[in-house]
Amino acid sequence: MDAFRYSRADSVAQAVQAGSKSSTWQQGATVRFVTGGTTLVDLMKLGVERPQELVDINGLALDKIEALPGGGLRVGALVRNSDMAHDASVQRDYPVLSEALLSGASPQLRNMATTGGNLLQRTRCVYFRDTAHACNKRQSGSGCSAIGGFNRMMAILGTSDKCIASNPSDMNVALTALEATVIIQGAKGERKVPIHEFFLVPGETPERENVMESGDVITAVTIPALPAGTRSTYLKLRDRAAYEFALSSAAVVVNVQGGKIHRARIAMGGVGTKPWRSLEAERALEGKSAEPAVFRHAAEEALRDAKPSSENGFKVELAKRCLVRTLTMATRTA
Ligand code: SF4
Repeated sequence: MDAFRYSRADSVAQAVQAGSKSSTWQQGATVRFVTGGTTLVDLMKLGVERPQELVDINGLALDKIEALPGGGLRVGALVRNSDMAHDASVQRDYPVLSEALLSGASPQLRNMATTGGNLLQRTRCVYFRDTAHACNKRQSGSGCSAIGGFNRMMAILGTSDKCIASNPSDMNVALTALEATVIIQGAKGERKVPIHEFFLVPGETPERENVMESGDVITAVTIPALPAGTRSTYLKLRDRAAYEFALSSAAVVVNVQGGKIHRARIAMGGVGTKPWRSLEAERALEGKSAEPAVFRHAAEEALRDAKPSSENGFKVELAKRCLVRTLTMATRTA
């Protein structure tokens, strides 16, 4: 690991000022904020991240979960994943989020990982994490070793000929189905970014994963209130039952009235280059009966544009079955 300077920020403004010194806030940033360190420290040991300065922002007062006046929740960026998963209001109103969090990593990691850090979690592509191999995300223009290489875990939606890496987070999938908003404080003030606009597909610039700019601090995530009677759940399919990333996952937020699907929000994990909202599936569900044929049609729509690589063609059918199963679970007693 390279030598780096270490400092602490006592306020968001101080953190923004310290982070603004970095030439970029994407891959290759010279300044990084550290909270739980569950991704960053690993990547620094591997030589993938090589910041010259680490700014510890654990002292910022961003660790509260608060009810919003008009309904919904505001979750501070420093709320630990385990605290959010076990929060009574999250478990009662947003079970999909609690389930997604508890399906991720291990208890020890969840105790350290933060909401803001999880939003910025990096891909688990083995070539990204190994500096001996070409990787466009790590070094722009160097090539993509996963295309034609080991790509069983890679994405099948939102890929480009520059990068096929999947977003590894479970929390982000649930937040996408819940239509959360990311609150960011930057040098020019605060902005509120809907989560479906926060993440970027790789396109020609896989090194750019989100809309964060130098010095930006994620301060919170807000989650809107759900219509009465809404049910939600998360299902994660993986190679082993714990401490493993998703091959495919689904977050379903659904409202069924009189046997008809009144409202549906669908997101998938493990298959997209970003947490994958499926408007196609939602359109195929809304106004229809909550029944297996409708679920299957929605799943077909969700995967219509899938482009598997040499080793992950199985994900297409797996993702469809995952979504059908999750819809079945979410509507079972509705
Ligand atoms: Fe790098 Fe993306 Fe290719 Fe993986 S898939 S090697 S992260 S460019």
